[in-house]
Amino acid sequence: MKRIVALLIIVATVIGISAVASAAPKKEVSPRIDLNWTIEETASQNGVSGEVLLRNLELPDNQANRAAKLSSLNVSEEQADLALRKAITLKNEGASKNWQLIVLKFGLWWMLVIGGIVLLTRNLVTPVRRKWLLLLAVLVFGVFLGSDPSPMGTVKDTIALYGIERVFFPPRLVAFAVFTAMVIVGNKMICGWGCQFGTLQDLIGQMSPIKQKLRVPFKWSQRIRIMVFIVFTLAAFLLSLDLIGVIDPFMIYAPAKVTFLAGIFIALLLLLSLVTYRPWCTFACPFGLTGWFFERFALYRVHWDEKKCIACGTCKRICPSQHTIGLLAGEKHPADCYSCGACLKACPVSALKYARKKEQN
Ligand code: SF4
Ligand code: SF4
Repeated sequence: MKRIVALLIIVATVIGISAVASAAPKKEVSPRIDLNWTIEETASQNGVSGEVLLRNLELPDNQANRAAKLSSLNVSEEQADLALRKAITLKNEGASKNWQLIVLKFGLWWMLVIGGIVLLTRNLVTPVRRKWLLLLAVLVFGVFLGSDPSPMGTVKDTIALYGIERVFFPPRLVAFAVFTAMVIVGNKMICGWGCQFGTLQDLIGQMSPIKQKLRVPFKWSQRIRIMVFIVFTLAAFLLSLDLIGVIDPFMIYAPAKVTFLAGIFIALLLLLSLVTYRPWCTFACPFGLTGWFFERFALYRVHWDEKKCIACGTCKRICPSQHTIGLLAGEKHPADCYSCGACLKACPVSALKYARKKEQN
């Protein structure tokens, strides 16, 4: 009962403080077009630059073109609409960012990855410490610093923005590269210790009164995750729909944006977190999938010493993500490892170590 009350307080705090701290909703992209306007007039009516508009229309940037009417440049309404949408979307993306906050966030994330590596290599992560660190991550990275950027958002928004508007927002690609670099340095430490929604689900799972969690075999959860990725990508490119955007669980940190459908979905995920490990990460997250792919290149990760192992099966039972099942079976592509440290503490003969490969023996 105490745990349930504590969980309700945590979720209410997350929603309550986030409601106050979260940013205003995104602006709609609705270009204003009159084929009798010049390029400069069209650009200024839509708050973008003539240079960008001409570039998006694939026309040379010169005075004559800037002063020419859209109709005299043989620009159709559809072409103007597409070019303006791209320009407005990019401008809105840039304007919606608080760059100082983003730099601060990435600095903190790197400190977390390095600090986490130090703790894990020394096997200092106890269940109690882990819970406090998860709570801290939820509060710092989600409630106080907001859900943008997030590892999930960098993949989701890059695909959705390009699929729907044919626009690349370079800072998102940089953010994706940095998150991926974190996976390459410390395995899925960024997911396990720093992701806004990943840590919230994990915390709920840790505090759940249900000890025997539902475990869907990795081969099935992975198939579902790949399917979700394909459907989401196809919907963006073929139907101009951001399917994940409609139910994005990271919106819990921006409650003003939560629609009825998203609210039901988020509530369902939080409830599912009580009975199964990180349902969103396991079955749907696009960064969960790309991060899993890059795990095999990780410098620091869990290694198993077959000679020490007494085959007691403890690590297989305790690993929430089933990574150890694949690791001990010698699988090339085991389930995700969230660098939680549970298996390291649980192994009675220290056959599992979090280390650099070359330091292993
Ligand atoms: S897999 Fe989970 S922890 Fe990782 S980015 Fe996605 S939601 Fe966050
Ligand atoms: S318990 Fe599983 S997820 Fe956690 S560190 Fe060990 S292998 Fe990784």
